[in-house]
Amino acid sequence: MNPVPIRGRRGTNHAIVLGAGIGGLCAARALSGAFERVTVVERDTFPAVPGVRRGVPQGAHVHSLTPGGAQILEESFSGFVEELAAAGGTLAGALDELDIVFFGLRLRQVPLGRVLQVSRPFLEDRLRARVQALPNVDLRTGLEATAPVATGSAGVTGVRLARPGEADVVESVDADLVVDAMGRAGRGAAWHRSLGYEEPATQRLHVGVAYASRRYRVPPGALGAAKGVLIGATQARPRGAVLTQQENDAWVLSLYGFGKDNHPPGTPEEFLGFADGLLVADTRAALRDAEPISGISSFRYPASVRRDFHRLRRLPEGLISIGDAVCSLNPIYGAGMAVAALEAKALRACLDDGGVEGLPRRFYREAARAVRLPWLFSTMADRSMPQVPGTHPVLAGLLANAFRATMRAAASDARVAAAVWNAVSLTGSPAELARPRVMASVLRHWSPPRTATVGALPGKD
Ligand SMILES: Cc1cc2nc3c(=O)[nH]c(=O)nc-3n(C[C@H](O)[C@H](O)[C@H](O)COP(=O)(O)OP(=O)(O)OC[C@H]3O[C@@H](n4cnc5c(N)ncnc54)[C@H](O)[C@@H]3O)c2cc1C
Repeated sequence: MNPVPIRGRRGTNHAIVLGAGIGGLCAARALSGAFERVTVVERDTFPAVPGVRRGVPQGAHVHSLTPGGAQILEESFSGFVEELAAAGGTLAGALDELDIVFFGLRLRQVPLGRVLQVSRPFLEDRLRARVQALPNVDLRTGLEATAPVATGSAGVTGVRLARPGEADVVESVDADLVVDAMGRAGRGAAWHRSLGYEEPATQRLHVGVAYASRRYRVPPGALGAAKGVLIGATQARPRGAVLTQQENDAWVLSLYGFGKDNHPPGTPEEFLGFADGLLVADTRAALRDAEPISGISSFRYPASVRRDFHRLRRLPEGLISIGDAVCSLNPIYGAGMAVAALEAKALRACLDDGGVEGLPRRFYREAARAVRLPWLFSTMADRSMPQVPGTHPVLAGLLANAFRATMRAAASDARVAAAVWNAVSLTGSPAELARPRVMASVLRHWSPPRTATVGALPGKD
């Protein structure tokens, strides 16, 4: 971290971050080491007790923080993982306390470290407390960013703020750097046009995924030894279930499906029925007996979106976008928060290396690196699903075969299981999957399976 504040473009040394989600909070931490003052502006006001809020409706659904993501947060917020565990969060042994079934096959349960499992509101609440404890960061809530302020060739020099839902601007705030962390809606990208610049090209993959989730209080041990169960969708059964133990012995069950016919129901009567064939009978029975501590929340996720800011020929100085505003990944792969944290880490490195001059270009180059492999992995997996339009059936079949062969190898070969986990959890490089011994094992499993694939977890079904 650069201890000397960098000189602002106009000498104010002030950065403003729009949005206090995971991307915004991580960005604020990165900026706090470089700017004299950082202001985070959030449209929502925060509930006194951590809970789902309007600006982050996805907070009701399972939010796994990959070990790679936790590692990055730990670099910026020392002791963060232990703090959350001490406050009631669950630490689950990966992979020995997790049951993970991808493409119909269970990942071999090799011990590979620990995963922090908490709800999104709990994680965000603790992260926000850490950011608010930074002496030069100010968090302002109940204010909506409506437009950038630009001054001739200086680019963006501030932002206009209003009360949410009201047209009147209540104030204009000057800043040397404005960071758009307002989520996937893409306001920052649209601002480019209003400033006389091109908007970035947008890649969209229509996945048509929907979620339904409910939280439960479960008596200790009632769900067996595993602290998390992840049953991924398959081409034949494009539905999935994630059940994880979170803070204070609460569990969340998130169900999802590709395509309208597979969207999970939002009614209590039908909700658990969707899990038939995904979760074993014992687990379903334990959930039926458990105490629901929330209603059922539904969420539609039509498309993964990636904005190629790094390809723009001209970029306005003083404005960058981060997190979902750059790339929103299909949430079933659970990587969005880790990627946002990785981009914030890149922002910090760019500031340390060269300050604010030419920052947007340097930052977007690094952000594109952070996003490249998670985007490739998730879109390749999605393209193997027949419900996702636009992929030639031959390519979809090839991708499906490749994923199945990898998972068949990962079911028995600890080295392949570790490589798959490291790639998916952003703990290691996906290049591990291309190592000769891993590739050889995958190729040995390339032929069609002789035995039936696993759907639900084995149990007393
Ligand atoms: C159903 C679902 C499940 C998911 N599960 C996982 C998971 O398991 N693991 C994982 O890593 N990721 C998961 N994600 C992805 C994750 O939620 C995002 O990648 C992550 O939150 C990105 O954070 P962000 O800060 O960029 O955006 P957001 O979290 O969307 O935050 C944007 C913030 O900006 C504020 N805001 C918006 N407009 C304005 C404005 N005009 N002015 C001021 N403030 C504004 C909003 O109120 C909000 O606080 C999931 C997503 C979904 C939809």
